[in-house]
Amino acid sequence: IFLPERVNSRGWDLTHAPTLSAIETGRAPFLETQLQGHPIIAAGQPTEPKTPVINPARAKDIVGQVQVAGPADITAAIGYAKPWGADAATRAAALNAAANAYEANANELFAILAREAGKGMPDVVAELREAVDFLRYYATQASDDTKARGVWTCISPWNFPLAIFTGQIAAALAAGNAVLAKPAEQTALIATRAVEMLHAAGVPIDALQLLPGGGNVGAALTSDARINGVAFTGSTATALKIREAMAANCAPGTPLIAETGGLNAMIVDSTALPEHAVRDIVNGAFRSAGQRCSALRCLYVQEDIAEPLLKMLKGAMDELVVGDPWLLSTDLGPVIDAPAHKIIADHITQAQSDGRIIHQIKAPENGGHFIAPTAIRVNSITDMDREIFGPVLHVATFKADEINNVIDTINGTGYGLTFGLHTRIDDRVQTIVERIEAGNIYVNRDQIGAVVGSQPFGGEGLSGTGPKAGGPHYLPRFTATPVQSATS
Ligand code: GLU
Repeated sequence: IFLPERVNSRGWDLTHAPTLSAIETGRAPFLETQLQGHPIIAAGQPTEPKTPVINPARAKDIVGQVQVAGPADITAAIGYAKPWGADAATRAAALNAAANAYEANANELFAILAREAGKGMPDVVAELREAVDFLRYYATQASDDTKARGVWTCISPWNFPLAIFTGQIAAALAAGNAVLAKPAEQTALIATRAVEMLHAAGVPIDALQLLPGGGNVGAALTSDARINGVAFTGSTATALKIREAMAANCAPGTPLIAETGGLNAMIVDSTALPEHAVRDIVNGAFRSAGQRCSALRCLYVQEDIAEPLLKMLKGAMDELVVGDPWLLSTDLGPVIDAPAHKIIADHITQAQSDGRIIHQIKAPENGGHFIAPTAIRVNSITDMDREIFGPVLHVATFKADEINNVIDTINGTGYGLTFGLHTRIDDRVQTIVERIEAGNIYVNRDQIGAVVGSQPFGGEGLSGTGPKAGGPHYLPRFTATPVQSATS
């Protein structure tokens, strides 16, 4: 597929003192602001009561108020949804204008991401870049040679509340569809602001409507015969429910693009460079407080080097700072909310009572939803019955002659999102990359942070349907006619 010329966002260099102080000054006013999240529908006013939004890092910071979408809002939005009739150049221009608006309002978006989702400085910068990249990337693929499918429901998660939210919408809109966007109920504020910017940039309101809320809103938007496609990022269990609802209610063949969870592994063999591997393990497991689908969950380290490697890992964990996401010195912010905190904390408590803690550092106890980064011993990835979405690393060891079994065991989980490998044996890279069943495989680096246009992101098996986001095959799935081939 032809990929037009395009450059990714330059981002913001947090090691450059003037850039950093400009961000600090620029975001300051947004520290105190009360933000409003609400449905945005082509006609009519939102009907539901407002509820407060609380900063996950500071229980005393009320960030704003959110109105979820009620049944009347949903009915109205589906009724008003109208695919974007403009030509491809107009659609691309609006998406590019929205990308520019995101960059121009970066300090406000950084502030909302930090206060509503508890995301740290490096994460908010990376997230905004990714959102901008999605807009510009899919804009290049808008074409007058393809037909839109119609009305798409886009359901996005709280862990990338701007990037994934924007990516799904941008692809659907670039292809000329109408979008009903349902952000995660935890992150309606950033979604509301993003939709306001997309509308101001030229996206018509009937082509993009916003319906914040929880599972009941998602269920209504995936079980209506007028929906022509669903893009979903979230848990495997929810994806399976959506598939059933669509099968029962939508026209046969209505596409579902699902990007779901993972039990992501990394293998470190005895030839790996320990300092390098440890840096990538810590990044993969603990960056973003482990709240990435791509995060490292289970490390397999070859027995021969396990002792020195784990010693080094403990030392690196001791250096991590858990705390206020506003501060540049912070490595891990809070997890998203109290229910998430409880699931992760219960998992750690169980490991404690089983005597399986390898190492744990301290987290603040100030009412924020902080979890102390923890490493837990397991015999195998099969000891983990589900994805634990937080800063918890599971560690297993293997003997030199067991590596093939390890690969079979990892594949046997049925998930296949990311996989990491640290080795300095070239043949081993070849063999393992061929055999491992995962969407994104990273060799001698960490396994998070896929870059739009360079590293299309998505899993296989229980981890997703494909096509991968940020790659050339994603947008065509939102069209009813295939991209015309040069030979036709
Ligand atoms: N694309 C992100 C990454 O590569 C992960 C997306 C997700 O967590 O859903 O780290």
